[in-house]
Amino acid sequence: MTVPFSFEVYPPRKPELQAALHATIQALAAAGPEFITVTYGANGSSRDASLDCLRFIRENTFIEPLAHLTCVGTSRAEITAVVDSFIDAGIHMFLALRGDPPEGTEATSDYLGELSSASELVELISERGGDRVTVSVAAFPNGHPQSSTPQQDVEVLLAKQRAGAEFAITQLFFEANDYLTFAAAAADAGVTIPILPGIMPVTSLGRLRRIVEITGERMPVELEAALEAAGTPAEARELGVTHAVELCRALVAGGAPGLHLYAFNEHETVLDVLAQVNQPA
Ligand code: FAD
Repeated sequence: MTVPFSFEVYPPRKPELQAALHATIQALAAAGPEFITVTYGANGSSRDASLDCLRFIRENTFIEPLAHLTCVGTSRAEITAVVDSFIDAGIHMFLALRGDPPEGTEATSDYLGELSSASELVELISERGGDRVTVSVAAFPNGHPQSSTPQQDVEVLLAKQRAGAEFAITQLFFEANDYLTFAAAAADAGVTIPILPGIMPVTSLGRLRRIVEITGERMPVELEAALEAAGTPAEARELGVTHAVELCRALVAGGAPGLHLYAFNEHETVLDVLAQVNQPA
């Protein structure tokens, strides 16, 4: 089974981590992904570091870089200038996001800035880049924390498609049915763009707890218990890889058009997952 795949990395948090990230990117690129995405700190906090990382991918690999961009808390003029500077730097693939307010800020219209949703950013990037750009968006199989019903998440994805999004990448989740049910509901509602499932191999209990806290996803209790019972870090890693491999296999068998792997700036784990997914079962 060979399916298209892609990876996500984040800009280095300290300059001394840059060389290691570059080595990771080279290793990920050698596996032949469709693209490598680079995250963006809401409010533009990582703008320069994200652009440096995207440039590195463009100039040193044969893989297309894809820039996450957020519009929260910025003016239309500011975000337009950022979009133009990324396009001028040769970045032609984007993930248009609203972003979240800084911790401790209330999620009211005060923090939103002039563009209040990802759909508006899709439109802005498409206006600035025309045919040169491909714009993707986020989707939430288990619901965005601020959505009131599962139907709202489908409607919002449909609105992003109408705004010009060409594909979607999902928030991480732990059960194949979370994705498959959402993808079926989206298709019934008229979503025709590919929805790539976002997979994060969880290789330690600490990481699992942290990402559940950040994303608001339901805790996968069986995986949590298994990681808790693991005797060594190597055993925990093995459990995380096996869980991700089984998830990927079920997703592909259920019709997922590709796999987007959150690499956590480390190539061994996601490459291990892919190698096992591609082995005959
Ligand atoms: P939106 O699509 O605008 O949705 C936000 C909320 O508003 C949802 O509850 C939605 O239902 C609601 N909504 C939207 N439009 C309407 C409407 N017209 N009417 C009523 N309600 C509406 N964050 C970062 O800061 N940097 C990153 O690099 C980053 N990368 C991410 C990558 C992926 C794959 C995902 C899934 C998320 C990522 N995030 C990132 C997090 C993201 O910014 C947050 O989840 C944010 O809260 C929502 O962004 P969005 O683009 O989905 O917003």
